[in-house]
Amino acid sequence: MRVIVVGAGVVGLTCAVRLLEAGHRVDVVARDLPLETTSAVAAAIWYPYRALPHDKVTAWATTSYAVFDALADTDPESGVRMVVGTEVFVKAQADPWWASAVPGLDRETSLPEGYVDGWTFATPVVDMPEYLPWLAGRAAALGGTLTRMNLRALPEGADLVVNCSGLGARLLGSDRSVVPIRGQVVYVEQFGLDRWSLDAEGPTYVVPRSRDIVVGGTDEEGEWSRTPDPDVAREILVRGARLVPELRRARVLRHKVGLRPVRPAVRLKREGDVIHCYGHGGSGVTLSWGVAEEVVALAGG
Ligand SMILES: Cc1cc2nc3c(=O)[nH]c(=O)nc-3n(C[C@H](O)[C@H](O)[C@H](O)COP(=O)(O)OP(=O)(O)OC[C@H]3O[C@@H](n4cnc5c(N)ncnc54)[C@H](O)[C@@H]3O)c2cc1C
Repeated sequence: MRVIVVGAGVVGLTCAVRLLEAGHRVDVVARDLPLETTSAVAAAIWYPYRALPHDKVTAWATTSYAVFDALADTDPESGVRMVVGTEVFVKAQADPWWASAVPGLDRETSLPEGYVDGWTFATPVVDMPEYLPWLAGRAAALGGTLTRMNLRALPEGADLVVNCSGLGARLLGSDRSVVPIRGQVVYVEQFGLDRWSLDAEGPTYVVPRSRDIVVGGTDEEGEWSRTPDPDVAREILVRGARLVPELRRARVLRHKVGLRPVRPAVRLKREGDVIHCYGHGGSGVTLSWGVAEEVVALAGG
């Protein structure tokens, strides 16, 4: 089949790779090229966050975990690494709803001051500025194309269109239930940090990558501004330093904002010759391989 994938974020590119591997001819069209998308701003840690419904999210996330784990082993140039870290809490917690998606989750007893509970686990950390070009290269090597195009409606003329337009689905899916949740992050120099830390309050996270460290974040529903706010950046660093005190002395490299495409539930559904696949909220990277496999199944032979 000739398939047009709309969107060159992590979801569109991953769907393109899996569709090409299944033997389809795939052309990706997108207004923003991979490094200009929301996906490029993601921290990006495997962690189910702001995406529903829980049962499907857990299943998609389980698939992605396994694929990323294998990539970390076999393809270091993909920018994927398995990193151990801890999520901390100010109150005692039950296991998370997605616990079955990770092979091991340990209660943590050595916690930063002010926290009473936590769990430690190994999870994929995906260095998006490396990973997105790697994914695009993998699609190109399989014969896929990528073209910049700002669409006013879903394209015609293909056997199948896969709509991975994220927040753009407000227009391309006539779907006003997709809304932005603004996330601001600060990048600081890498000073030897090799563990991630997360506190759902804020949310606050510190994610080490090979060349820098991503410190976040914010979670502002309905906010469209992509301009980093310097006061918010300062406050993010104060929160981050409660988890990793060395951040107080780290040199700030740059600031970024991304708009998470949140929906009451991820839309993954075939309607005639269109498969909609958007609304992955704060989990687009985490769900990417799982949803791509479902898209291939919906595409059929
Ligand atoms: C600060 C921050 C931190 C995050 N951290 C994580 C994390 O740690 N882990 C995780 O799993 N997720 C994380 N996320 C969420 C993740 O970034 C998103 O869920 C993911 O990027 C969504 O991917 P997508 O491909 O659906 O959308 P996008 O990356 O937004 O891509 C959409 C594509 O559709 C195209 N498009 C839209 N409209 C049109 C149009 N009219 N015509 C043509 N093309 C169009 C765009 O140009 C773009 O190419 C984070 C997000 C933010 C903002």
